[in-house]
Amino acid sequence: RTVYVNGSYVAQEEAKISVFDRGFLFADGVYEVTAVLGGKLVDFAPHMQRLRRSLSELALPSPAGDEEILSIHRELTERNRLVEGLIYLQVTRGAAERDFAYPPEDTKPSLVLFTQAKTLRETPASKTGIAVATVPDLRWKRCDIKTVQLLYPSMAKMAAKAKGADDAWMVDEDGFVTEGTSNNAYIVTGQGKLVTRHLSHDILHGITRAAVIQLAEAEGIDVEIRPFSVEEARQAREAFVTSASGFVMPVVSIDGETIGTGTPGTFSRRLRAVYIAEAEKSAI
Ligand code: PLP
Repeated sequence: RTVYVNGSYVAQEEAKISVFDRGFLFADGVYEVTAVLGGKLVDFAPHMQRLRRSLSELALPSPAGDEEILSIHRELTERNRLVEGLIYLQVTRGAAERDFAYPPEDTKPSLVLFTQAKTLRETPASKTGIAVATVPDLRWKRCDIKTVQLLYPSMAKMAAKAKGADDAWMVDEDGFVTEGTSNNAYIVTGQGKLVTRHLSHDILHGITRAAVIQLAEAEGIDVEIRPFSVEEARQAREAFVTSASGFVMPVVSIDGETIGTGTPGTFSRRLRAVYIAEAEKSAI
């Protein structure tokens, strides 16, 4: 597999990053994950917009313009003959003498991209749905910035797996679900309303979330943007999560208790189909 590192396309075995890179020492970096369907990029423009925002919130210098970043995505897709899967992009503040203070302004940020071939459309999990387990949300208070500081979500996923679930739903101090470890969370109420938490510093502003809310409204589904509790989720008709890698993924149980019929519900299946159709149509 060919990867991109700071201006060069190299075999993954040849790729090198300094041990002084601040991404490695301080998790001082941000990332994006873009889906590829039929060799084309899904929702590329909003991913770039969010990358710009993450960089700006952390005063990270931009490693390249949008046009150049797009051409790197295309080049990697071609070189690796990627038809379906993901492209991971990471920007860090670069290599500098270890110090908590940011390095001099002329320090070059590091830019790394790689591809992951992966079945996205016809995944077994999308047919059976996934199980989630709740864990307290112990992350920092700027979850809206897509940083590479992912140790807590990783611990949360392991805790969920230890309980026999597939992923964790993180819960705030008031008992409301914030989001999944790498996805946004939704329920469908008994009245057929789609509920998902409002945007704030508590969650990542998902690109798939924005698209799915718009598509749901276009489908005539009532959308309520508000927090929901674990208790409300247990009694929901349906639940699902969204992300660039999972699209719309049905959730069929929470903490071992079945949600609805315990199989992917009609809203979840319909929104998954509509989202994929639209993603294929608008991919560039
Ligand atoms: N929430 C978190 C914490 C995430 O890490 C992600 C994606 O990685 C999402 C939500 C979903 O965001 P998107 O739809 O942009 O992939």
